[in-house]
Amino acid sequence: FAMAYDDQNIFAKILRGEIPCDKVYEDEYAMAFNDIAPKAPVHILVIPTGRYVSIEDFGARASAEEVQGFFAAVAKIVNEQGLTENGFRSIANTGSDGGQEVAHFHLHILGGAPVGPMVAP
Ligand code: AMP
Repeated sequence: FAMAYDDQNIFAKILRGEIPCDKVYEDEYAMAFNDIAPKAPVHILVIPTGRYVSIEDFGARASAEEVQGFFAAVAKIVNEQGLTENGFRSIANTGSDGGQEVAHFHLHILGGAPVGPMVAP
């Protein structure tokens, strides 16, 4: 789906500091904050600082530097959060079938306890 980026999406507003968030990480390429409705003991959203609608848009249009910077941030965050020992799940809901609610690419990081089956039965 070729969806245009909407600068009024809620994560764009969080990036601009227009609405608050419970920030856990920030650098040039990525920002991370606790999900407002956590579905696991640890539930963090990692977003790129650039304007990308989805993981597909990010993969198609982001520069190698942006992609590397984003995933380096993911690695730092999961280490800082102590998630590497027992593991975690990362999810990127995309489009309508994926149940994506916010049209700014975000990677869910879920952990702190076993997170259950990969997809609800
Ligand atoms: P998705 O369905 O993958 O687009 O997920 C959007 C996620 O954003 C949901 O898990 C929401 O709980 C979360 N969310 C929505 N608004 C906020 C907010 N203001 N701060 C933190 N998380 C939010």
